[in-house]
Amino acid sequence: MIDVSEKLEGLNWIARPKLLALRRLGVETVEDLLTHFPRRHEDRTEFPKFPREESDVPICLCGEVVKTSLRRFGGWKKIFEATLQESDPNALSEPLVCRWFNLHYVQKMIATGQRMVVFGKPRLRGTRICMDHPEFEVIENDEEISIHFRRITPIYPATEGLSQRVLRSMIYRLLNELPWSSAGLETLAPSNLVRGERPEAIRAIHFPDSWEARDAAREHLVLTEFFVMQMLIASRRADASTRRGEKHCGAGALLDRFLRSLPFELTAAQSKVIGEIRHDLAANHPMNRLLQGDVGSGKTVVAIAAMLLAVESGYQAAFMAPTQILAEQHYDVLRRWLEPLGVRMALRTAARQEESGPLPLFERVQKSPDERLTTTNQPQIVIGTHALLYDKVSFSNLGLVVIDEQHKFGVTQRAQLSAREPAPDVLVMTATPIPRTLTMTIYGDLNVSTIDEMPRNRGKIVTAVRDGSKLGEVLAFLRTQLEAGRQVYVIYPLIDESEKLDAKAAAAEYDLWRERLRPFRCDLLHGRIPAPEKQEIMERFRRGDTNALISTTVLEVGVDVPNATVMLIENAERFGLAQLHQLRGRIGRGEHKSYCILLTSAQAKEASEKLAVLERTSDGFKVAEADWELRGPGDLLGTAQSGLPALKVGNLRTDAHLMLRARAAAVSILERDARLELPENQRFRRLIVEQQGRTFSNVS
Ligand code: ADP
Ligand code: MG
Repeated sequence: MIDVSEKLEGLNWIARPKLLALRRLGVETVEDLLTHFPRRHEDRTEFPKFPREESDVPICLCGEVVKTSLRRFGGWKKIFEATLQESDPNALSEPLVCRWFNLHYVQKMIATGQRMVVFGKPRLRGTRICMDHPEFEVIENDEEISIHFRRITPIYPATEGLSQRVLRSMIYRLLNELPWSSAGLETLAPSNLVRGERPEAIRAIHFPDSWEARDAAREHLVLTEFFVMQMLIASRRADASTRRGEKHCGAGALLDRFLRSLPFELTAAQSKVIGEIRHDLAANHPMNRLLQGDVGSGKTVVAIAAMLLAVESGYQAAFMAPTQILAEQHYDVLRRWLEPLGVRMALRTAARQEESGPLPLFERVQKSPDERLTTTNQPQIVIGTHALLYDKVSFSNLGLVVIDEQHKFGVTQRAQLSAREPAPDVLVMTATPIPRTLTMTIYGDLNVSTIDEMPRNRGKIVTAVRDGSKLGEVLAFLRTQLEAGRQVYVIYPLIDESEKLDAKAAAAEYDLWRERLRPFRCDLLHGRIPAPEKQEIMERFRRGDTNALISTTVLEVGVDVPNATVMLIENAERFGLAQLHQLRGRIGRGEHKSYCILLTSAQAKEASEKLAVLERTSDGFKVAEADWELRGPGDLLGTAQSGLPALKVGNLRTDAHLMLRARAAAVSILERDARLELPENQRFRRLIVEQQGRTFSNVS
């Protein structure tokens, strides 16, 4: 009996260099190798007729060797040729010439009169049909089972030093030697979810007898993978609800004063969401809530409301933004709104560290409630970048952490937060709407609140895709807006701002635009500008001292200037849809009608089709779905962020229906036996413990 968690070394039939190559693939144990699943399969069951033409699709042929030859050329180089004739004597086909260059061992393996199978792309060379370096196998006797041919053949994600053939042979041998009852090969998912047993499914995904068997095996494995994930999530959730926390919710007098001071009424959605948060704050286990709301839906006000409730109850709140610009903008907004209410605030960014002086250390200092209220010099709200977490900076009395624009913030950091004792309440906010299957998986341990309504009297945003050749007309339009007193953003795509070259390009771009928009005043904003200067540039734009801001995507999130009504995005095809939607969210923030112009120089039909999605809809959820379809979820949110085991077979998008089934199964098990105490549930319990061990070693 083999334990599949054993190292491959223990098998003693895998040579050392191969072990090293396997390690490069991340394959170290028997189980790793068994679950090194094929990327795809090739149909090598059928041997078509010998071709008369070349083809780009590799084909599998079976024939008899009628001639071999070895030629030298260029001094020491050798070329070995084997000419194959179709076995069927009635076939009137051209012979096929297989060629190998400088491969000594091949000529030793092939002789006239043998039957062999080859697999490769037929090419026309002069008048001959050739196959260069085909995969091949000599058929010694017809009963012999081939690993590589005459079957649906697995193709693996490979690596240097490990050919498909070698990898396939190893897996084949392993599967044959492995006793059916090996430890670690138990069927993990309940029988009402999956059909068949796990060992069978593993065998069949590698070497299926039919395409149907392959699909069934894959479904078994995907369901299992998703089930494990859902059990883990469900247990995390259960865990979080038992973790000790404190109530961080004041009576609401401060919040009421704030709301009364606002120049607008909350939307119904904002009120609803504040209610949900308030409920969490008042509970004595830690809040873990995701707030999603499209760009401009007014998440900041909600964050402030939450923080004021915490402050009123005597705790500190931290407000973390992904960039310095945003942190500073939040600071300005909060100061404007909250200083009149007597709330003490501090900004913590690399640039302003000294100004506000050192804060008490992150280690929590236990204080009695009375003491809390008397530490009067402490800021009640600390605003900063995500670096606040790593900083030696700290809070004596942290009750609530709000994380803005969560998509740049991983689960690891969240885990760090909730590991604190007692855990603070955590609210993460995102403007990138997350498709439902993903919320179920990646954010499955969070409660989700959604702001599904925009503030009223928002100016409409018109989006238009324009070809670069129309720049003249576009410029004329920009001028009419500038003359009407509005402001504009011009975004150009510099993907990697780390390069000197790009700084140069930015400067050139800027000169060009200044010329184009003369006499209106322009400013340039990009990632390499030192922070204090950036802040000034933003400030000038906000005050209306500058009319146009030429910028890279540092502008991406959160910036809020209601008088800016035009956003021109150059080379728009280079951005993802979700990112363009984010950028577009910078306009349409005041009562004026706004315009987003996507300039594209690409003639590519694909690009403008992609961009047309933005012309059609301004609904962030629809954009996110479309983006997801185009790029896959990997780009949207790395699985690394999820802190969940990486998926080996499942695909979050195309297998979404399987995720639903897996989730239902997991939920029903935990509903009946929340602490997994029933004997029949012990294996699930072990599963979770094991997976948690793995995940935590990933995270820390
Ligand atoms: P986001 O959700 O993208 O972070 P913000 O919180 O920055 O959006 O809000 C965008 C703008 O809308 C801000 O100027 C904010 O003051 C304003 N705003 C927020 N809520 C309302 C509301 N209920 N009615 C009118 N304007 C609002
Ligand atoms: Mg925001």
